[in-house]
Amino acid sequence: MAISARNQRRLDKKEIRREVIADRSTRRCGECTACCTVLGVEELEKPAYTPCSQICGAGCQVYKNRPTTCRTYSCAWKIGALPDEFFPPRAGFIVDTTNELGAITVREIEPGSASNSFGAKRLVNALAAQSVTVVVRGEHDRTILGPVEKVKAFMKQVDKRMKQQGVVPG
Ligand code: SF4
Ligand code: SF4
Repeated sequence: MAISARNQRRLDKKEIRREVIADRSTRRCGECTACCTVLGVEELEKPAYTPCSQICGAGCQVYKNRPTTCRTYSCAWKIGALPDEFFPPRAGFIVDTTNELGAITVREIEPGSASNSFGAKRLVNALAAQSVTVVVRGEHDRTILGPVEKVKAFMKQVDKRMKQQGVVPG
């Protein structure tokens, strides 16, 4: 059966989309080691916003035996969830792909490194219009944005979690 020109165009578009997704899913960190500084790694007692002592050039000295925290982390750019322009060293921030309480976390690579970037502001505004978005600017500096009701529900969960862990908020 002959395929119509319209359906052929649809198939071509699908094919292009598949190629784009495949390309994004094979992204490499390259010279980026941002998460090795920005994230805290409990197993190494490494605080957030402190370069890991295992960084060697643009790589990890203990890559094969790196801790689970490192093994399981991929930023949103790496998995192809963000356009190329948001490669962390260029953008000045990384976006987590997971958060146990359902928020989206945007972490500035250096405190202030994304605050004045139009691209970062645009992205944060777009995320915060839909979801709870936590902007982290340093180990003890974070701002919670998002639709009011969602932020309230998120804060309740945070309070509950802190009480369960025996931490008194505020
Ligand atoms: S921040 Fe993303 S791109 Fe950079 S090293 Fe970590 S996972 Fe790779
Ligand atoms: S152990 Fe390796 S992968 Fe993990 S933070 Fe340190 S340098 Fe990065």
